[in-house]
Amino acid sequence: AAQKDGVFKVMLVGESGVGKSTLAGTFGGLQGESTHDLENAEDTYERRIMVDKEEVTLVVYDIWEQGDSGGWLRDHCLETGDAFLIVFSVTDRRSFSKVPETLLWLRAGRPHHDIPVILVGNKSDLARSREVSLEEGRHLAGTLSCKHIETSAALHHNTRELFEGVVRQIRLRRGSG
Ligand code: GDP
Ligand code: MG
Repeated sequence: AAQKDGVFKVMLVGESGVGKSTLAGTFGGLQGESTHDLENAEDTYERRIMVDKEEVTLVVYDIWEQGDSGGWLRDHCLETGDAFLIVFSVTDRRSFSKVPETLLWLRAGRPHHDIPVILVGNKSDLARSREVSLEEGRHLAGTLSCKHIETSAALHHNTRELFEGVVRQIRLRRGSG
């Protein structure tokens, strides 16, 4: 997808229940000008935000679960995204074990692009029900050559860092400072 005029499109990807919609909601609640009437688009959030003293329009899509594997919507996600946040829950090992397959699918679909992907271990606040350690998350991200962050969408922990981080990743790939 072409990145026009500093509009960056980010896809939230991952299994059901990992916290994608909650993460999207924290983005929607960030300060910054809301650039569209979002009344009919509860699954799309557009904000103009400042990252490293430069403004950017970030559009976050929470539409992944509406599609089936092999379906047109998944292909649409693949083509639309300038970057992908693969979210798993640190309390759900199954969601973690799905990550490599999803990432390979993304990369196979965009073979000529070095697409920015961040592996997001969400629900870091639920220490007692944790099934995936921080080290395991980091290690998998290293193996798959993508970035990694742990967040708590519930406590808004690291959520701003996540969305700023994805902007930086896209800027790096574009080769603009
Ligand atoms: P989605 O299916 O990936 O969109 O997941 P949701 O955003 O609907 O979240 C699923 C459930 O997990 C909801 O009950 C959320 O309130 C809860 N949840 C999401 N993120 C967190 C988090 O960071 N910490 C905790 N404790 N609960 C969370
Ligand atoms: Mg959801």
